[in-house]
Amino acid sequence: MKKIAVIGAGLTGLTAAFYLRKNNIDVTVFESNNHIGGVIQTKKKNGFIWETGPSTGVLAKPEALELFEDLDALSILETAPNLALNRYIWKGKKLHALPSGPISGLLTPLFSWKDKFGILLEPFRPKAKNPDENLSSFVRRRLGESILDYAVDPFVSGVYAGSPDTIVPRYALPKLYDLEAKHGSFIRGTFHKMKQPKSAQDRKANKKTFSARGGLSSLIERLTNYIGAERIITGCKELQVEFQDSRYAISYKGSELNLFDEVIYTGSAKGVLNTFPFLQNAGFDDAAEVRYTAVAEVAVGFNKWEGRPLDGFGALMPSKENRRILGILFMSSLFTERAPTGGAMLAVFVGGERHPEYVTQSDDELKKLVQEELTSILNIPRFNPDLFDVSRHLKAIPQYDLSTPKRQKAFQAIEKKYSGLHLAGNGIGGIGMADRIRQGREVALSLI
Ligand SMILES: Cc1cc2nc3c(=O)[nH]c(=O)nc-3n(C[C@H](O)[C@H](O)[C@H](O)COP(=O)(O)OP(=O)(O)OC[C@H]3O[C@@H](n4cnc5c(N)ncnc54)[C@H](O)[C@@H]3O)c2cc1C
Repeated sequence: MKKIAVIGAGLTGLTAAFYLRKNNIDVTVFESNNHIGGVIQTKKKNGFIWETGPSTGVLAKPEALELFEDLDALSILETAPNLALNRYIWKGKKLHALPSGPISGLLTPLFSWKDKFGILLEPFRPKAKNPDENLSSFVRRRLGESILDYAVDPFVSGVYAGSPDTIVPRYALPKLYDLEAKHGSFIRGTFHKMKQPKSAQDRKANKKTFSARGGLSSLIERLTNYIGAERIITGCKELQVEFQDSRYAISYKGSELNLFDEVIYTGSAKGVLNTFPFLQNAGFDDAAEVRYTAVAEVAVGFNKWEGRPLDGFGALMPSKENRRILGILFMSSLFTERAPTGGAMLAVFVGGERHPEYVTQSDDELKKLVQEELTSILNIPRFNPDLFDVSRHLKAIPQYDLSTPKRQKAFQAIEKKYSGLHLAGNGIGGIGMADRIRQGREVALSLI
């Protein structure tokens, strides 16, 4: 029987290991941290539950729902109520709901009249000449400046903590890119897609926001239990892989050599060359060509909520508005048990491409910043939180910018040269949790 190693016990690695175990394949997971779950870590204290990494996923790929089904864990899948469709954007001195239909689209103060009526001309606008055009130019050209400033820019800082000036839609938002590339227009492409029949599997994908009951760590626990904790080795410091006679020899600080037929790597793209020293000085340097944005995620919990109604998914801050936070998620409005009854749990994001310097501020400095921002944005009469917790991620989100095709090419060249070596992780294939689940499952099934 083939012996397979998975490097990394985050969502990608655990999903891969789960599908391998489900097919009775011998697998060992190696993790450098002392904990399992990668960036997914839920904390609990005094009646509050909060995330220190990803907070909400979208069931955008059928594989996400299928993972819960295959784990027999539908009972822990939580989807947000319809109220999550309300998304707020800060403009002027207040929050405005992002329009959800033609009438609210016409009435919203977020977009200019020129861009509101300009939408009618979108199907007739010419296609891009440069396929690697950045998102700012893509949106400005097709939809207009105000839609870039008050919808797309805040979306990019909410998802990538990045800037539309560097994100390239062809790599970061391939579905959106394809609407223009294949159909010449967003509107025409959307109508065309709506008319296409959907397979039973495709129907499992939707726009619902998901988490797990008790926080995302519950999903990690289920994966760990299925794989078997004895197959997941944590604390593997300075792990390195050598290529020996068509097999892969793994060692880490204090360990002996372990030989494997195949290796699935799910760490950061930045770490590829250090983990596999035989790839160094061999023409594969582009594999580690990636830029990350830094984020501080601040959990703020209140036993009694006295601010404005938290009647939505959250609020995003456009760059133009010069606020010091990127956005706020109303976590206790989305999922159960996040705060005591009558209270609230908010996730506040600081830093990103706009203000990386805030991420390394002290907890006290961040508390002052978050206090000033939340008080004015959410009309909180007295800022006296019962829980305040800061999680800093210096290399939070890989940016799908112009480096992406080089990285993809290098990954493909490595896999072609070294059979049995599979490179995954969020440096390619998307950053969202559904993307991670899809990739982990695909790489596992490709081995079976
Ligand atoms: C702050 C933050 C907020 C986010 N919010 C969201 C969100 O709301 N929704 C969403 O969909 N996505 C979000 N994301 C993105 C998403 O969380 C990630 O893309 C995804 O969880 C990454 O999973 P992964 O398994 O690929 O990587 P990771 O979770 O990073 O796991 C990789 C694991 O590999 C280990 N590893 C790496 N190299 C080695 C090595 N050489 N030896 C041994 N072990 C190694 C690491 O220690 C780590 O545990 C967020 C990310 C961050 C950082």
